[in-house]
Amino acid sequence: MRHHITVIGGGVAGLTAAVTAAESGAKVTLYEAHHTLGGRARTAEGPYKTNEGPHALYNGGPLWAWLKQRDLLGPVMAVPPLEGARFRFHRGGALRRTPPLAMVRLGLRSTEKAPVDTDFLTWATAEVGEAGARAAANHIAVALFHHDPGSLSARFVQERLRRVVTLPPEAHYPRGGWASVVDRMASRAWNLGVRIEMTHRVTTLPDNGGPVIVATSLQAARRLLGDPTLAWDSGRTVLLDLAVRARKGDPFVISDLQAPGWIERFTAQDPTLAPAGEQLVQSQFPIAPEEAKADGITRAERLLDLGFPGWRERVTWRREVLAAGRTGALDRPGTTWRDRPAVNRGDGVFLAGDQVAAPGLLAEVAFNSGLEAAALALRTKRITGREGLDLNRA
Ligand SMILES: Cc1cc2nc3c(=O)[nH]c(=O)nc-3n(C[C@H](O)[C@H](O)[C@H](O)COP(=O)(O)OP(=O)(O)OC[C@H]3O[C@@H](n4cnc5c(N)ncnc54)[C@H](O)[C@@H]3O)c2cc1C
Repeated sequence: MRHHITVIGGGVAGLTAAVTAAESGAKVTLYEAHHTLGGRARTAEGPYKTNEGPHALYNGGPLWAWLKQRDLLGPVMAVPPLEGARFRFHRGGALRRTPPLAMVRLGLRSTEKAPVDTDFLTWATAEVGEAGARAAANHIAVALFHHDPGSLSARFVQERLRRVVTLPPEAHYPRGGWASVVDRMASRAWNLGVRIEMTHRVTTLPDNGGPVIVATSLQAARRLLGDPTLAWDSGRTVLLDLAVRARKGDPFVISDLQAPGWIERFTAQDPTLAPAGEQLVQSQFPIAPEEAKADGITRAERLLDLGFPGWRERVTWRREVLAAGRTGALDRPGTTWRDRPAVNRGDGVFLAGDQVAAPGLLAEVAFNSGLEAAALALRTKRITGREGLDLNRA
């Protein structure tokens, strides 16, 4: 029997699931509410090619390997060595060229796994002392988007810290933004015969007898499936994107080690992201539940004042956004990815996305759960209706 699999959502998770299922010979229909594919991996159209906040593709992860294997990776930019030398750390009230040694030691120590049940700050303080532990917690906010990374599970934070401090850096950047990767994934899906229905917001699950993969944000899945238990922690961060007239000597990255925050000049690795003579600078500053967007903007501007002299006079374009619950899963002490909402919801319904039970860093969770959902849907042999429960799963 040739499966007919429905995928709802055309972000990284949905495209991964659609391609995987179609590669195995299934008939696939993908519905996407927006007029473009990509979800949170979309790149803005126009002269400033911004992703939704800073977006890195990590070359040590499974998404990278999968894209490469299918020739879908395309040109990806590494950090140029000269720019790498312009990495700055905000500590002791000034910008410095090097991080505290304790922070590096903590990140590179590879033998011992941190405990799941303890918070990162407590564990790391016992390992390297409080100053190094706090610096490491603030540094890793680049991949956590949380105002207090030290309060999260030590194992969860340690795994991410390792991937961020490793040398040479794992972080790479698809030329022209993530949309270029999304376009290649979409082409692959088209070529495999996936039917893609754009501007089609699904409001009830189709009852065509085939498995359904819900690859929306967890929040949208909660509404669609009417299941209030579909919830997990995620970050809350202020994004300040700027285009500024170029100035020799601007830093490449400023990592705030005094409080979570990150500023990166993205044209350093990919000049195509802004018109000639301009630099694209993206900042993300996580804020606490009681803080307002303005608080994050103020912190970003203070650090820009310190590192980007004259930036206010050089600005040619500016955008401010608050990203709440959009930056992937965060695991509290005592929990791991296995405790998040399960991929298999029963009755031939599967969940994919970046806050569900799958391992990985950021979009890799969406990717891994997309693979898992497709594999499970392919093994779902027969369904006679969502309510019918006449379901044989292998
Ligand atoms: C500020 C920021 C920075 C980030 N930085 C990084 C980074 O550096 N590296 C990294 O790997 N990841 C990063 N991420 C995370 C990454 O963007 C996400 O993990 C990934 O894009 C999630 O993909 P997804 O397919 O699970 O969800 P989404 O991208 O949200 O896709 C879901 C899709 O479903 C569609 N949809 C929703 N409801 C319906 C419906 N009812 N019917 C039809 N379609 C529907 C939506 O329109 C959307 O296109 C970042 C995210 C943010 C916000």
